[in-house]
Amino acid sequence: MNKLCYDCPRRCGVDRRITKGYCLEEDKIRVAKIVENFMWEEPCISGKKGALAIFFSGCNLRCEFCQNYQISHIGKGISYTPKEFRQLLEKFDLTKYSSIDLITPTHFSSLLIEALSDFKSPIPIVWNSGGYENCEVIKRLGKVVDVFLPDFKYFDEKLSKDLSKATDYFQVASKAIMAMREIKKENKFDNGVMQEGVLIRHLVLPGQTKDSLKILDFIAENISSPFVSIMGQFTPIRGRIKEKLKPIEYKLVLSHAEKIGLTEGYFQELASAEESFIPEF
Ligand code: SF4
Repeated sequence: MNKLCYDCPRRCGVDRRITKGYCLEEDKIRVAKIVENFMWEEPCISGKKGALAIFFSGCNLRCEFCQNYQISHIGKGISYTPKEFRQLLEKFDLTKYSSIDLITPTHFSSLLIEALSDFKSPIPIVWNSGGYENCEVIKRLGKVVDVFLPDFKYFDEKLSKDLSKATDYFQVASKAIMAMREIKKENKFDNGVMQEGVLIRHLVLPGQTKDSLKILDFIAENISSPFVSIMGQFTPIRGRIKEKLKPIEYKLVLSHAEKIGLTEGYFQELASAEESFIPEF
């Protein structure tokens, strides 16, 4: 990266060799942790073997309730140039995993596109992001990743401003997700593992079911062949939301999803709403 950074909709316009932008990362790909055979994702991502999960340091959203606070807000990890990151991937026997799971990668988009250009992976490469992304970058990513796994977090501007300092979150993420669907038109599976496509995640926030319903309505009305993961495991670790999601709230959201035809995908048991659900870093 040797230019001003406009990799994400924050459009900081900083030279990351000299100055950090909102994501708090420099001009190298920083990996906080790699977990082999990671089984914590949806079954079509983890598969039977688990994913090769690569957690990146930093984030372009830094949501105040972040469940991965230790890696997204407190920068730590090992830095790689695109060439070095590719060499790192080449060291793994990729046939031992179901997918390569790139977790919170958006702020390294340009560097990862360079690293993965013409990389022949025997397993799908998953772009596991917060959804706050530029359509132009999504188009370039479509050539190097197989599966888009975006969050679709908020509808309301005030909510996204308060929790992620991104007033335009819905406006941006809705366009980005439509661009992902435009690029990966169909969801393709092999032995239950997604080989290509788009899986949209939505985490239901305590006290915000109306916002969730609006997000689901948008998906049903605008995304063809929607495949969704509606999550209820919010854990109040930090930030202003202090309570857990109530079972009645989650049930209401799931009922609405069914009513509007969002029946393809996953939902969770609320028993998973414990701190132990969150990997330790
Ligand atoms: S990737 Fe980081 S520096 Fe670049 S625009 Fe986004 S937040 Fe700013």
